[in-house]
Amino acid sequence: MEKENEWIEKKVKCGNCDNGKVEAYVEWIPGKRCRISVICTVCDGDGEHSIWIPKFCQVPNCMNETKSRCSGHYCHGNGWVCETHWVEWQMGWHDPCCVTCFDEIGWSGN
Ligand SMILES: [Zn+2]
Ligand SMILES: [Zn+2]
Ligand SMILES: [Zn+2]
Repeated sequence: MEKENEWIEKKVKCGNCDNGKVEAYVEWIPGKRCRISVICTVCDGDGEHSIWIPKFCQVPNCMNETKSRCSGHYCHGNGWVCETHWVEWQMGWHDPCCVTCFDEIGWSGN
């Protein structure tokens, strides 16, 4: 089954600032620092910015909507998978990942 490679826009919280503001320290007088807030340049003060993600899970034949992105090395496509293809490790010794990576590293132990 061929699935269309559709992409959707997703809003994510900007990791560079706190609600659009970045705290900065400026030296006004030698030895004295003044704290000011400046508008974040990454998100233009929005506090969030949009990224483009594949609409459908990257696991072949899965048509569910994407939920999380895996940063592993064995993922299908670009690593975006749906909820059912996302594995929260029970033992807590590894970050959550997609089932593809889970199969690869789950048994080899690294
Ligand atoms: Zn920002
Ligand atoms: Zn993966
Ligand atoms: Zn899936």
